[in-house]
Amino acid sequence: MVTGERAHYLDYNASAPLLADARDAMLGALEVDANPSSVHRAGRAARGMVNKARRQLAALVNTRPDHVVFTSGATEAAATLLTPHYTFGRSPLTFSRLYVCAADHPCVLAGGRFARNDVIALPVLASGLVDLEALDEALSGHDNGAGLPLVAIHWANNETGVIQPVTEIAAIVKAKGGVLVVDAVQALGRVPVDLSANCGDYLILSSHKIGGPRGAGALVAQSDLMMPLPLISGGGQERGHRAGTEAVANIAGFGAAAETADPARFAECVAMRDAFEAGILEIAPDAVIHGRDVPRLSNTLFFSVPGVKAETAQIAFDLAGLAVSAGSACSSGKVGKSHVLTAMGVEAEEGAIRVSFAPDTSAAAVGRFHDELGKIVARARPKNSLAGA
Ligand code: PLP
Repeated sequence: MVTGERAHYLDYNASAPLLADARDAMLGALEVDANPSSVHRAGRAARGMVNKARRQLAALVNTRPDHVVFTSGATEAAATLLTPHYTFGRSPLTFSRLYVCAADHPCVLAGGRFARNDVIALPVLASGLVDLEALDEALSGHDNGAGLPLVAIHWANNETGVIQPVTEIAAIVKAKGGVLVVDAVQALGRVPVDLSANCGDYLILSSHKIGGPRGAGALVAQSDLMMPLPLISGGGQERGHRAGTEAVANIAGFGAAAETADPARFAECVAMRDAFEAGILEIAPDAVIHGRDVPRLSNTLFFSVPGVKAETAQIAFDLAGLAVSAGSACSSGKVGKSHVLTAMGVEAEEGAIRVSFAPDTSAAAVGRFHDELGKIVARARPKNSLAGA
């Protein structure tokens, strides 16, 4: 990067920068040095902060605050919800199989506490949308006598941004007597998420994708009548659903970020996404933008350029002060083949670059990105082979 030039952060789907309101809430929480389970004044103040965050998050997804269970992140929320063992009131309830989507995040694909053999991956279409016929067929063949089917599907894909038809999925799952867990990590704050509007039975949420701190998440239930057996048992915190002293500052930051979240404003990102894409196609007309034909997050584009290695391009972008991803960033900095593209049947040997941003991303970032991409493509391809290559 040329000294003095501003860096541009275009990796919001990996983690969004901490919002000022979230930071203020966290600093306020750090001043209250007590355990939220303590009954003295300082303890009650800490409890008040956790409960405020609970109300803020519940308001964002339109449910009751006591249906929110805070966790250390979305990964823990998934590990808690994806279990064969639930209670319905006081009775045990068993799920015999877990149906996931092949393009789900690894924390869902891992299958939680289900045995490996009881986790079935449903295919996605070339568009990136889950194959609804395959879902219907799989659930029709499920033996409800042996235990109900549990289904877990992401709302919006972290790599492509493709938005799944969650209400349609929920209707299919309900008709077959199943229960639906929706990984709404990338959808929260970016599209309207209303848990009362038939979009599943549980949501998996993460703080750091909406400008809260890393290290907080939640599972949110549509009704607390049916709940998973806790993953972490002990002191009875979170009404017995997740033991352990609450990370008050992280939770307070998560709540503040939830209060600031504005899906309507996020929708405005689409103009910038169009500008990014138009420039990419001008530089490399044979570039492929994955998931382009179906509804996608307004802030996400995932593209491959034939002959241009995504990993090499990412390093060049980084040197030029542009933080982008080559695929997802969940495996300790390692860039493997994207399982999402594999699930879509895309053979992009060179990998793909993900650009993800926010409404306040500066327009200058688009120009800088195109300038750098032009140089990267020119370097990677022999002279005179650019146009229509
Ligand atoms: N689900 C999706 C769709 C994600 O993108 C991520 C993070 O990348 C997660 C789950 C995991 O979130 P956390 O980092 O809070 O465990």
